[in-house]
Amino acid sequence: MTQHTAVIIGGGIAGLSAALALQERGFAVTVVERDPSPPASVDWSGSDAWRRRGAPHALQPHVLTARLRNAVNAWYPELARALREAGVWEMGFAESVHPAAKADYRPAPGDEDITILMSRRTTLELAMRRYVAGAGVAVIVDGVKAASLLVDDDGPPLVVRGVRLADARGERDVTADVVIDASGRFAGFADQLRAAGARVSEEQHASHSAYFTRHYRLLPGQRFPGVYGLPAAAFGDMTVAAFPADNGAIVVTIGAFKDDPLLFDALADVEVFEAVCRATPRVAEWIDPALSRPTTDVMGWANMDFLWRSLVHDGVAQARGYFLVGDTALRSNPKYGRGCTCAVIGARLLAEVLAEEPDPDGRVHRYEAALRSAFRTEWDELLAVDAADYRRFQVTAGLVPGSLGDAVRSHFQDLLLHRAMLCDPKVQRALLRGFYGLGAPSAWTRDPEIWARIAAASVLPRSKARVARRYAGRPSRAQIAEWTQARSRRAC
Ligand SMILES: Cc1cc2nc3c(=O)[nH]c(=O)nc-3n(C[C@H](O)[C@H](O)[C@H](O)COP(=O)(O)OP(=O)(O)OC[C@H]3O[C@@H](n4cnc5c(N)ncnc54)[C@H](O)[C@@H]3O)c2cc1C
Repeated sequence: MTQHTAVIIGGGIAGLSAALALQERGFAVTVVERDPSPPASVDWSGSDAWRRRGAPHALQPHVLTARLRNAVNAWYPELARALREAGVWEMGFAESVHPAAKADYRPAPGDEDITILMSRRTTLELAMRRYVAGAGVAVIVDGVKAASLLVDDDGPPLVVRGVRLADARGERDVTADVVIDASGRFAGFADQLRAAGARVSEEQHASHSAYFTRHYRLLPGQRFPGVYGLPAAAFGDMTVAAFPADNGAIVVTIGAFKDDPLLFDALADVEVFEAVCRATPRVAEWIDPALSRPTTDVMGWANMDFLWRSLVHDGVAQARGYFLVGDTALRSNPKYGRGCTCAVIGARLLAEVLAEEPDPDGRVHRYEAALRSAFRTEWDELLAVDAADYRRFQVTAGLVPGSLGDAVRSHFQDLLLHRAMLCDPKVQRALLRGFYGLGAPSAWTRDPEIWARIAAASVLPRSKARVARRYAGRPSRAQIAEWTQARSRRAC
């Protein structure tokens, strides 16, 4: 029997996930990656020395959801073992219950599923790629760019037969039964298909978010502090987070908004960044010089959006033999941490469809239907949350006048995020299931008991109130403005 072939454009998380899923279903897989191979000298601990020009966001924080962790454990146990050996670790629900709330915690069935993976993206990706190459899952061809698709353009549907590759030696063509486009957020192949007559549609919504990130490393003999509730303190105008990652690395990020007249410029400055972190107790303990030292500068990122791309127009498949996986297919604002989850699960859905469906158009329809069923409700909900977050920012930063409704919503959010999430394990469980992809993000809103518990968090016993007050601390905008001005005066 002839073996089917697949060429995958891009060796990021989505490309490697597609390789794993397709090889399992009998495909001979080649991954083409334009970045050079990671030097053999890059080890797990120093994975951030691996320069990823093709994925420049690789040093930004990556939350790896419980949905992702559970899928990897179930589908790829050997990979899960390789990740653990590389230093990727699991943070379970029980250990994220604050000591002040421990007495109220009653373990419930399913709590063990609320476990996330903690890692830098570079370590996760390096371990995945070494596993894929080492276990003979795919041939990875590094340092070679896919320049264009090989297309029979007498469609629609167009038929994609392979890829034209380009490197220092020149160009050459590779044909395959299927071409998987895992080339990420900067992908340009949809434009080539459009130019050839395909109607490739996109729903795209800009997000106003921006990240400022600095990496730290635990000093010898030190241990991570506890992570309780969420690893982040969310305020209207910024979210300040410390993520304990692999091999003693700590990723500290402040999420802000691009049109914030104060924070967007201020946070790129390392002194202001550190001052904000030191004045935010939830994060301050992580960057205490007695615990850790910085290993990078502050790295900014402001290219975030929601995207849903489709190769079906008016019920007609627009391209045969060509499939989108990962960020080329769909993405949401990275602050919701869904990208790697959609990449791994989406790749698996594609492989299932390709194995079961021989009809080329049927494959396109069934794959898009599977993606919709797996991710669309969540994508829509996150888009609505994003719009509400942006509105809250505008009011907090004084860019638009706030209404009574805004004030009530803001108060409720503070109760939820700074008090109930920390002090009531039942609320924490309900919220984290949605945050970490185990149910619709809004599922908790349909449970009256959770609403009642959030309301009850406005009056807490003294010990819990003390914890909640401390964790809700932050510097005021006036204070940050003062630090910024002082910094500018010193620079003059
Ligand atoms: C700031 C930021 C923070 C994020 N945080 C999270 C998070 O917390 N949790 C989470 O799950 N996800 C997060 N994501 C998203 C996550 O990184 C991606 O969704 C996920 O890694 C899947 O990406 P990908 O493999 O599709 O694309 P990429 O990671 O962009 O990989 C694409 C690969 O294709 C290669 N390539 C591109 N063009 C070509 C070509 N022509 N020929 C050959 N190779 C090519 C590139 O070099 C690259 O290696 C974040 C993203 C950003 C921007």
